[in-house]
Amino acid sequence: MSEIIIAGGGLCGSLLGAFLAQNDHQITVLEKRSDVRLGQAEAGRSINLALSSRGIKALELIGFGSELKDISIPMPVRCLHQKDGSIQYVPYSGRAGEYINSISRSGLNAVLLDYLEKCDSASVHFLSEVTKVDFDENKVHYRKNNTDHFLHYDYLFGTDGAGSILRSELFKNKLPLHQLKLDFLDYGYKELHIEPVGINGFAIEKNALHIWPRGHLMMIALPNLDGSFTMTLFLPLKGPDSFEQIDRETGIIRYFEKYFPDVLDKIPSLESQYAMNPIGQLGTLKCNPWNYKNSCLMGDAAHAITPFYGQGMNCAFEDVLILSQLMKEEGNLNTGILERFYQQRKSSADAIADLAIDNFYEMRDHTANPVFLRKRQLETTLEKTFPDYFSKYSMVTFRTDISYREAMIRGRMQDEWLMNYSNQHPEITESPAEIFDQLKHYMNIKLKH
Ligand SMILES: Cc1cc2nc3c(=O)[nH]c(=O)nc-3n(C[C@H](O)[C@H](O)[C@H](O)COP(=O)(O)OP(=O)(O)OC[C@H]3O[C@@H](n4cnc5c(N)ncnc54)[C@H](O)[C@@H]3O)c2cc1C
Repeated sequence: MSEIIIAGGGLCGSLLGAFLAQNDHQITVLEKRSDVRLGQAEAGRSINLALSSRGIKALELIGFGSELKDISIPMPVRCLHQKDGSIQYVPYSGRAGEYINSISRSGLNAVLLDYLEKCDSASVHFLSEVTKVDFDENKVHYRKNNTDHFLHYDYLFGTDGAGSILRSELFKNKLPLHQLKLDFLDYGYKELHIEPVGINGFAIEKNALHIWPRGHLMMIALPNLDGSFTMTLFLPLKGPDSFEQIDRETGIIRYFEKYFPDVLDKIPSLESQYAMNPIGQLGTLKCNPWNYKNSCLMGDAAHAITPFYGQGMNCAFEDVLILSQLMKEEGNLNTGILERFYQQRKSSADAIADLAIDNFYEMRDHTANPVFLRKRQLETTLEKTFPDYFSKYSMVTFRTDISYREAMIRGRMQDEWLMNYSNQHPEITESPAEIFDQLKHYMNIKLKH
């Protein structure tokens, strides 16, 4: 039985810990924060998230499944709130039963910690901050109750999020192949809250992910189980219509009157919420390698991405699934598996990072564009008609049998053709079969090159 230490008991760390503990490893999770099951969620830290098929498949590894319907809300459609006040519902898929789920970050983390602590061979130390790693001595140092401690490990996993200390420790050694790239968007985000109507009533459509596309700025909202919505406002940090301009000149009420008048009356405490909630940064982190000796990074610590595809957590969970598949192939955990994990997973993590940036521009700029809307309609028809047609979004979000990289390559080709087609055909007169034949022909030629 290996002694495994996991730095970070967030979403990825608690799933990884539960999986490894269920597979006869001795697990110690060191978590900087207090137990999420005892307190309030941190303000401004994406209170709810979109969970989709890749994440769900990974969660099934530990037996999670029946809980999902009790702690999430299905979102089969995007609800687009246009500037003129009109609303459009755009399905995420043309296939029945394909939807994304709004789930509470702390609620899901709590369930995963319960799974973890059900295992006799697992323990979680809360308020225990990893501070240093000695990779030669296999020793992790951490600070708890103002006292320094250390533990020995056979294997060490860093699931300590985008600001990972484990990654800093690993990259401190500056091995020849070490590379780290952090790209921040010049956009930030702030979370706001729509209260429930009466007792658990929803002020806007419950079963939808709401988007207010406004060209250079955007707001989204996801439903919570209590009837409230968590809204995320994505704005430039500086310049016209930025957070800076709101603070200096416009004020948030005037800003909403101009861009989001339809929700103003639903957030009576807008001014105080805006003043209290922090502005979060949005960035992409790519680094390599993720493994060193018998330690490895996973989840955001290895590949933090922007939230625009709703895949950061799903990708972090899929990391655990990929590791489990490699362990199954080789019979158990070993150092070689960590290298194989990194080699297999890196291109997919890079792909979803790039797709997330693409989606930022798509959600911000194109969801109000009639050609884009026509293209989405066409894709929905193709998905309804042909079981073997998957849009890029569906390949990323609903398929678990292809990698993010393959989804990116195929999806980008399809998108290019469909956007061109929709642009050239303001009225679609050809049958879905004729259109699908042309698309398949184009894809065959492209994929051969
Ligand atoms: C605004 C926003 C919206 C998002 N929406 C979605 C979405 O809809 N769908 C989706 O799939 N993803 C989404 N994401 C991404 C998702 O939040 C992350 O990808 C996910 O949380 C990664 O999980 P993780 O466990 O790797 O890291 P984290 O969730 O960050 O967990 C890291 C854990 O490590 C702990 N820790 C940190 N440092 C230390 C230390 N030194 N010692 C011990 N413990 C430590 C932290 O306290 C934390 O508990 C969103 C992100 C943002 C910012």
